[in-house]
Amino acid sequence: MTARTALVTGAARGIGAAVARRLAADGFQVGVLDLRAEDAAATVAAIEASGGRALALGADVSDEADAAAAVARCADELGPPVVLVNNAGILRDGALFKMSTTDWDDVMSVHLRGAFLMTRAAQAHMTAAGWGRIVNLSSISALGNRGQANYAAAKAGIQGFTKTLAIELGKFGITTNCVGPGYIETDMLTLTAERMGISYEEFAARMIEGIPVGRVGQPDDIASAVSFFARDEAAFVNGQVLYVAGGPVD
Ligand code: NAD
Repeated sequence: MTARTALVTGAARGIGAAVARRLAADGFQVGVLDLRAEDAAATVAAIEASGGRALALGADVSDEADAAAAVARCADELGPPVVLVNNAGILRDGALFKMSTTDWDDVMSVHLRGAFLMTRAAQAHMTAAGWGRIVNLSSISALGNRGQANYAAAKAGIQGFTKTLAIELGKFGITTNCVGPGYIETDMLTLTAERMGISYEEFAARMIEGIPVGRVGQPDDIASAVSFFARDEAAFVNGQVLYVAGGPVD
């Protein structure tokens, strides 16, 4: 049987790269999408070095033509994407009174418009296959976080998007779920420390005080959760938000 194909956005580094590698280890062929195809090359090389099959795709998920073309290219050159992980994301943090309209729009565009465009393009392949898995990246920030009015709104929006897709697409054998990471050690966390004007080490030490398991998360911690949602056995898990944060979140 030909391997199923997964498409992971924002997979050049960080959480997306770990998810792409993990799904490849689980037996999927993987479309590795990021803004520039050349940035995705390292993730593709890591997958191929482990015996997997992957394709680098350059696209801006918030651009309608780009998103559609990337999904079409994935389908033509690798296989129809029946797993989609909407992971691409940006931060434009700042207190509300300083937040520019562009900061607001850019965050909405990448997280919400991007997830919408990619999912609308990919779902046709899933309904045709009668099987699909959509996994969206939310965040503990969906519950509110100082300096992140734009990001928190987008990540809460992703949860509403997820639950609605779960209702609409369930009958086609497609599940849609959300992973909400806590503090995960990636470039995004380094950026947050920079914004606060402290070193990453100091930032991490402060965060760890509030994390019951006593460490910040690693990209592989999130990849494990995505891997679960993508399995056949997870067929009855639909429309859920799983916080992966080293402790309870509410
Ligand atoms: P990261 O900044 O390390 O990586 C994000 C990737 O997305 C980059 O490779 C970037 O080039 C890509 N990207 C950005 N805009 C894009 C666009 N328009 N089109 C295509 N690709 C684009 O971030 P990360 O920490 O790995 O975060 C991944 C996801 O997890 C994001 O959705 C983020 O909001 C979420 N998240 C991260 C954390 C954390 O602590 N790191 C916590 C909660 C949620």
